[in-house]
Amino acid sequence: MRRPVIAGNWKMYKTQEETRAFFEAFKPLVPATPECDIVVAPPFISLAIASAAAHGSPIMIAAQNAHWEREGAFTGEISMRMITDAGGKAVLIGHSERRQYFGETDESVNRKVKAALEAKLTPIVCVGESLAQRESHLTHSILKRQFEGGLDALTEHEFSRILLAYEPVWAIGTGKTATPEMAADAHRYLRELAATVFSPSQAAGIRILYGGSVKPDNIKGLMAQAEIDGALVGGASLDAKSFAAIVNF
Ligand code: PEP
Repeated sequence: MRRPVIAGNWKMYKTQEETRAFFEAFKPLVPATPECDIVVAPPFISLAIASAAAHGSPIMIAAQNAHWEREGAFTGEISMRMITDAGGKAVLIGHSERRQYFGETDESVNRKVKAALEAKLTPIVCVGESLAQRESHLTHSILKRQFEGGLDALTEHEFSRILLAYEPVWAIGTGKTATPEMAADAHRYLRELAATVFSPSQAAGIRILYGGSVKPDNIKGLMAQAEIDGALVGGASLDAKSFAAIVNF
């Protein structure tokens, strides 16, 4: 049985003060021993504040990105070690907005995944097709390329430490959710890839989250699919009540 994970990606939203206020409102709304893992990914500047605010609760703090090098002359970048130092336990890697606007490739995703694992962070690796790719029936080939490229040369043990997030680009921030069946089909395909590239037992264990306009009113239908192990939530994770409603699905 795979334990569900509900993760919130705040993107470039919330100041430090707003971060504190969120946790004050959110913590009482979720049980001390919830039935799923809860992750919140604030902007870098609020990582330490979020970690302090989440202390003693079951909420795990994640970064939204990081560089693969340990340190160096990389102006504007943050290393995996800096994230752990600020209390982060996980890191989003290869979010479609990073791929679309900041030139991230399967190769950079792969470097980041390895660096995150080395720093003992949980990589949350995002994959997904664009609308044009789906309409051209390229969904599976895009997922295969992203999966094989992003997770290249990982050992089975390393693979067992990651979370995968299937996020169809056309469903992110658009209000258009993939139907539970569409999401389940992509998840099933990713699990098949995991069985081929790693092993059937790894495929059975990997947790795959769905992301793309997840809201309190559609989480139940998504989570009813055996293939869907959780959600990566953007917009609806910014509000304590709506994120708690998703966590408590
Ligand atoms: C995301 O940012 O990963 C996301 C899925 O956003 P939204 O829920 O707003 O579509």
